[in-house]
Amino acid sequence: MLKSSKRVVMLGDCQSFYASVEKAEHPQYKDRPMVVAGDPERRSGIVLAACPIAKSKGITTAERLGEAVAKCPDLVVIKPRMQRYIDVSMLITDIYKSYTDLVEPYSIDEQFLDVTGSMHLFADTPEEMAQIIQAHVQAATGVYTRFGIAETKILAKTACDNYAKKNSSGIYTLTKEMLPETLWKRPVSDMFMSGSRMTRHFNVMGLPTIGSVAQTPLGKLKQMMRRKFGKNSDIQAEMYWRIANGIDDSPVRPGTHQVAPKSVGHMMTLPFDYREFDHILTPLLEL
Ligand SMILES: [Mg+2]
Repeated sequence: MLKSSKRVVMLGDCQSFYASVEKAEHPQYKDRPMVVAGDPERRSGIVLAACPIAKSKGITTAERLGEAVAKCPDLVVIKPRMQRYIDVSMLITDIYKSYTDLVEPYSIDEQFLDVTGSMHLFADTPEEMAQIIQAHVQAATGVYTRFGIAETKILAKTACDNYAKKNSSGIYTLTKEMLPETLWKRPVSDMFMSGSRMTRHFNVMGLPTIGSVAQTPLGKLKQMMRRKFGKNSDIQAEMYWRIANGIDDSPVRPGTHQVAPKSVGHMMTLPFDYREFDHILTPLLEL
């Protein structure tokens, strides 16, 4: 449990978001494998989202619809409705805002909540608070949410991606004290902001785990990175060192749609080549 003097930050993530919205609105498909995919009439479309049942049959996001149907002949294929997903995302923001005014949308299906000041109104513990919000979103939208809980945004995101998404309650608290026994043991590829290129560099530098980055003194890490990237890499070195150590003072900023740095790989698979401005606008706004 987090100590009372610390901030209580949550990252709420929607499971299989587009597919979950469609399932909620098509209850007849509740127990069927379903994907949201561009142009269901043609096999050349791309899978944008797969429900958990479809995923259990080996279907993955961004694969070709024809391949998905081959794996699972009774697959239900639904055409994407971006505007509807944006509306539901905003409805979920409103639900979060009934628990705290500090809600920051991070992507269409992920939002940060700072509940430090309001938790006592709703629950005794952060985990209980997350359960209440999870049940509220489920009842209102049919979407299942997972919550990473921590003192900082980066640790909340880490708690969600690496732990909450994989446990049965969908809720996980990660404290700084737990880092050596949990996150630090993981490969550096699991570190927030470490893409495949940076992961390779860390491995070459002899830093294969998140803990090995965290425990390298900052000055030494800067030197090691300068040898590879020149002296302009000091800022990058400090950023990775802070991430590995769970150091992050950035506040949850209500109303901001944070533009993720390039290396996070913020992308969206589109159902077809967009040529009209109106078509392009919706996914652009989403990103
Ligand atoms: Mg998600």
